[in-house]
Amino acid sequence: MLVQRPAAPPRTSRSQQVDPDEDAATGDHQAQVIVVGAGPAGSAAALHLARSGVDVLLLEKGTFPRDKVCGDGLTPRGVQQLVRMGVDIDAPGWMRTKGMRWVCEGRQVHIDWPSSGAHPDFGLTRSRHDFDDVLVRQAVAAGARLCMETKATGPLTDRAGRITGVNSVAGADKRPRKYHAPVVIAADGASARTALAMGLERDPGKPIATAARRYYRSGARTHDPYLELWADLVCSRTARDLPGYGWIFPLGDGRVNVGLGALPHRGHGTVDLRATMDRWLTRMPSHWGLREENADSPLLSAALPMGFNRTPQYRRGLLLVGDSGGMVSPWSGEGIVQAMEAGEVAAETVALALHRPSGPGRERALHQYASEVNRRWGRYYRLGNTVADLVFARYGYRPLLNRRVMASPTLVRTLARLLTHGTDAPADDLIDSVVRGVVRMVPAPSRRARALDALRR
Ligand SMILES: Cc1cc2nc3c(=O)[nH]c(=O)nc-3n(C[C@H](O)[C@H](O)[C@H](O)COP(=O)(O)OP(=O)(O)OC[C@H]3O[C@@H](n4cnc5c(N)ncnc54)[C@H](O)[C@@H]3O)c2cc1C
Repeated sequence: MLVQRPAAPPRTSRSQQVDPDEDAATGDHQAQVIVVGAGPAGSAAALHLARSGVDVLLLEKGTFPRDKVCGDGLTPRGVQQLVRMGVDIDAPGWMRTKGMRWVCEGRQVHIDWPSSGAHPDFGLTRSRHDFDDVLVRQAVAAGARLCMETKATGPLTDRAGRITGVNSVAGADKRPRKYHAPVVIAADGASARTALAMGLERDPGKPIATAARRYYRSGARTHDPYLELWADLVCSRTARDLPGYGWIFPLGDGRVNVGLGALPHRGHGTVDLRATMDRWLTRMPSHWGLREENADSPLLSAALPMGFNRTPQYRRGLLLVGDSGGMVSPWSGEGIVQAMEAGEVAAETVALALHRPSGPGRERALHQYASEVNRRWGRYYRLGNTVADLVFARYGYRPLLNRRVMASPTLVRTLARLLTHGTDAPADDLIDSVVRGVVRMVPAPSRRARALDALRR
């Protein structure tokens, strides 16, 4: 296990690696905030906390770089977060995209990312093998202390049940170690072990999809400037529409990321992703090279916890960020940008709360995190959960992206904005106003309902 900490000063200098046992002697098992998990959520939270001058300890069970099952695609909103984190997106390794291409029923339509100015007018792709490594280095350069190969095994709590740190095992020999902090951020992904151990169960009424991806070498597709989505995939076993969609995302390094995601189908249960993918690949032109002999990885799958399926997002000193809080969009399956944005919101909330003495005042300030993520995404996710349940899980994406819809450029642009959460206040154009108007009509969960929900759990 290694602890990485920034050489000081200046804060942006290269990180040093320090023996953790020396750290124990100097009392570095104590911090103002512990972040569990160094994916996009954890690195974003740690980076923004460190920038605010907070002493933050980032615990990661793996060693980086490492693979993470993902589609590797970022919409402009995600690019914006990277820029806010100071990531050099002009460095080699990033592939820019112009927009999306939707394919359905033999038709295709191109939707360029909006150029209005609210967000960058391009998206990015990068394999998670590199991506997460870039982000965690950025967090360390900002001042976060990083402990690799350190797996949090359970919360430490006080008599009142408030989290005061985590137990962990470190290194190949699994040395037990305790870390202490008055605030802990759970960014440990879909497994959400820290949240579960604090009694925060998943809401079974909210959607959880499964997605699988595989890398292929494809000279024909690797520099495609569009993220390609297929809406008319058919399940292998039932020959019914896939309750999800397929994607081909260019990586610009000779490879493409090909995958598909699906909700459990209302009519016929779990989807066989491997067989469905095989069937889909036979539809691809042979010159794209998406064949077994060009495969560059196994087909791997993972869960997508969606639509705030674990709440409340704050309880007893613990904040849930990213997949651990079920923050994947029920509209699109995107989760990286939500993870990074929520990481920033969590960091800001905690940095402000730490200026108050511990007690009810600080507690009220920490509760603001749940209020803020609900203000940002509550209505949009509520509507998305309903659409996922009534439309995507029964009929897939074909009802939204069929021939008739594709024939209308305005409808297509509106849908694209809705699916990728590409609108913000203030509205940029008429499409923004319409999308925002629709989302605003969704009733927000009342404070009372949220409080009851929190008590119930
Ligand atoms: C097949 C697939 C395709 C996807 N495609 C896209 C896409 O194209 N675009 C997009 O935006 N989203 C996509 N997603 C969703 C996206 O991958 C996730 O939403 C995102 O990774 C969430 O980030 P996170 O930081 O919350 O969690 P993770 O990225 O899962 O990071 C969690 C980290 O915590 C660490 N950890 C776990 N447990 C512990 C522990 N006990 N102690 C210490 N460390 C721990 C893990 O090692 C990991 O590094 C896809 C998901 C899947 C499955």
